[in-house]
Amino acid sequence: MRLVVLGATGSIGRQTLEVAKALGIRVVGISVHTRVDAALKIAREFGIEVVAVTGLECVKPTALENVKLVTGERTVEQLVKLTAPDTVVVAVPGIAGLDAVLQAYPYVRRLCLANKESVVVGGRYLKRLLRDAGVEVLPVDSEHSAVLQLLEAARPVKVILTASGGALRDLSLEELENATVSQVLAHPNWQMGAKVTVDSATMVNKGLELFEAMWFFNLAPHQVDAAICRDSFVHAAVVFEDGVVKFHAGFPDMRVPIAYALTKPDRRWKGRVPELVGRSITFEPVPFDRYPAFALAKEILRERDTLKVGYCVADEVAVDAFLKGKIRFGEIYRMIEKVVESVEAADLDSWEEIEEALEATQRISKDVMRRWK
Ligand code: NDP
Ligand code: MG
Repeated sequence: MRLVVLGATGSIGRQTLEVAKALGIRVVGISVHTRVDAALKIAREFGIEVVAVTGLECVKPTALENVKLVTGERTVEQLVKLTAPDTVVVAVPGIAGLDAVLQAYPYVRRLCLANKESVVVGGRYLKRLLRDAGVEVLPVDSEHSAVLQLLEAARPVKVILTASGGALRDLSLEELENATVSQVLAHPNWQMGAKVTVDSATMVNKGLELFEAMWFFNLAPHQVDAAICRDSFVHAAVVFEDGVVKFHAGFPDMRVPIAYALTKPDRRWKGRVPELVGRSITFEPVPFDRYPAFALAKEILRERDTLKVGYCVADEVAVDAFLKGKIRFGEIYRMIEKVVESVEAADLDSWEEIEEALEATQRISKDVMRRWK
């Protein structure tokens, strides 16, 4: 297998490289956003020929031999054209993931998607593109990988994703409002990039994952939900008509779903096997007062497409503002709500419509941000 990893210096990116090494998969190219030095270190370690730098217009010529640096326009497309991979892992955060997918997909057979914003924003349009191109798309997100492994020929009645509750699950509602960046970034079960860790604390992440589950498995809004499983031992449950519920369980370790996405239908990763005796499994409902952004996502599931784009874009702008100390934690939700309220409801079927919706919601989000307080 020839593998390209987009976002190779991130949490998923690094774990993908580790899995590739353990399974003897050849990594032929990587992308990073700005951290060129870290990228060159990886290139040296893995004997990678091409490195794409997506966030810099130009990079000083490197002293490193045998590594080609790609920058400027459509860097991801240049990278996949030069390296001819059969599999690409998209581990780029946020809405930028959509652009990465759009540049990469015509050149690959299998796309392993860690990024969720790309499917929320790309929606039906993206699905059509990938289907017409004959690209196999597999989820890396642990819950969705679990669902994929649980599904069978029979249609499920319901798919339930689990949520840890994030770093702030035991704070009082008052403390929640003013939670600090370092409190938010201390996730109990997973080591992840900053955006997705903040999204876990607000549970915007689980909201996006409901959309993601509908996208991957062709489910209707009433067929997807979430429950809290504090230790993330169960990743998802699938309910069938005969009353059977199948769970996918195991220690939380992203290398497992990454390896499954890379090697499906094989199961080649050697993981730690849990002792089941003495272990209890508990699911709790998601409290809407604590996670209003999740409640909002559930409402939007039934709405027109532009509202989902608004939700995604507003979250990205609000999380960035929170991480920079410009707004309080509690304000992330209120900003998203304000933006979503202002978005004109419409469905999105073409790239032009998606682009327009992205521009409009970015404009609204920046406006809301400017006039905040
Ligand atoms: P990180 O923030 O750890 O890593 C981001 C990677 O992408 C880095 O290589 C970074 O490069 C690069 N990058 C950053 N910004 C951009 C941009 N605008 N355009 C292109 N590349 C960029 O993120 P994670 O690995 O945690 O998450 C990646 C994706 O996977 C997200 O969509 C997340 O929701 C999803 N995911 C993550 C999980 C996890 O356990 N981490 C679990 C499930 C899903 P540089 O180092 O140069 O900045
Ligand atoms: Mg997940």
